[in-house]
Amino acid sequence: MRALLNLTAETAARYLENLEERSVAPSPEALVGLTELDEPLPELPMAAESVLETLDRIGSPATVGMAGRRYFGFVIGGSLPAALAANWLAGAWDQCPGLFAASPIGTKLEEVCLGWLLDVLKLPAGSGGAYVTGATVANFTALAAARHTVLARAGWDVEADGLFGAPPITVVVGDEAHPSLIKALGMLGLGRSRVLRVPVDSQGRMLATALPPLKGPAIVCMQAGNVNTGAFDPAVEICERAHLSGAWAHVDGAFGLWAAASPQYVHLVAGVADADSWATDAHKWLNVPYDSGLAFVRDAAALKKAMSLTAAYLPQGRHREPSQYTPELSRRARGVEIWAALKSLGRTGLADLIERNCRFARRFAAALQQGGCEILNEMGLNQVLVSFGDAARTLQVIERVQCDGTCWCGPTDWQGRTAMRISVSSWATRDEDVERSVTAILRAAAV
Ligand SMILES: *Cc1c(COP(=O)(O)O)cnc(C)c1O
Repeated sequence: MRALLNLTAETAARYLENLEERSVAPSPEALVGLTELDEPLPELPMAAESVLETLDRIGSPATVGMAGRRYFGFVIGGSLPAALAANWLAGAWDQCPGLFAASPIGTKLEEVCLGWLLDVLKLPAGSGGAYVTGATVANFTALAAARHTVLARAGWDVEADGLFGAPPITVVVGDEAHPSLIKALGMLGLGRSRVLRVPVDSQGRMLATALPPLKGPAIVCMQAGNVNTGAFDPAVEICERAHLSGAWAHVDGAFGLWAAASPQYVHLVAGVADADSWATDAHKWLNVPYDSGLAFVRDAAALKKAMSLTAAYLPQGRHREPSQYTPELSRRARGVEIWAALKSLGRTGLADLIERNCRFARRFAAALQQGGCEILNEMGLNQVLVSFGDAARTLQVIERVQCDGTCWCGPTDWQGRTAMRISVSSWATRDEDVERSVTAILRAAAV
């Protein structure tokens, strides 16, 4: 085992070092090489060392260099050194943190981190929390608590009796809500198409004045950080209006919620803490390895009633039992890496990470604008939308950027325009990476 793990460490270190030199996108040959995996189930065993060597030989070149310094696709983030190391140790531990009895350390770290996260994200102390795969499931989990509460207030027990014959719930979203939020609503039986969509401004912010009148069971879903522009819905006004009519206010803050960790950007989350539930990702801006999402619910009991494994009303034992708060019973111990990330960064390190990424995003925007490109969004956070002309030309430039391999950025649609999106979310990105990437992008745009 020791020899195998040492070999693994060597292999992984070599992979990460190689990211400095190689193309961020995998080469066409590496993708062709994947066909070697199309083989029948092996009849005979293979030594673990050979399994690892095969995986590295075929797999490493066919990765996208997301762990490197110049990956700016989607909102991905890298893996902090302490978080990656903790992930390895957690793999060796092989803990199932659903129950205290199954993993004292796994459950303890989740409990400690819940307190730390509520603190650093400026959310109400004592809120309930769930460690899940990502913001999609975090939205699902938090909105299940919302569904429970608004129906319980109408005298309906949705966990026991389902939605058949239940009072209807009015669900309101912004017109630029993330598709995963709509999917979560669909999975909850609230209907992808029956949601009411509120008009938004040029940055995707919900117009608070356009909120429809709310009556009876209702859930209003806001966004902290639009995936394209980084813009925040006006949470102060929306929470106030939602609460005046007894509606539940939910926030999808997959990456934007982390602005709360920075003194320079905390003003963006004004009013967000007034909501009733929140979803965010740790695998995005906290830079822990995939997968890691977080749901928070002000009324911890509501989350427990929606997610409890057994009859929802059992008293809490001596320990926090995480599976009372999550969709899953068995799952990996995500608190380990989150603890390692927060412990290694501290409050100041996290603020610095957020501020550095936002500074780099502004630098991208300024340099590309100076180079003749059009920036489509107001630079408020870490997302940059770049247009190189019409849709066809913009897509062409994006393809050249990806083929060049210096950095990686993907396409997006923004209110009828095709754009290249740059998301600066990795701890590893440095000034010189922004310089190199700007040069590569301008080179691709000059053809
Ligand atoms: C990324 C993102 C999601 C989905 O998160 P996953 O972790 O991929 O499930 C939801 N909402 C917003 C605003 C996002 O940026």
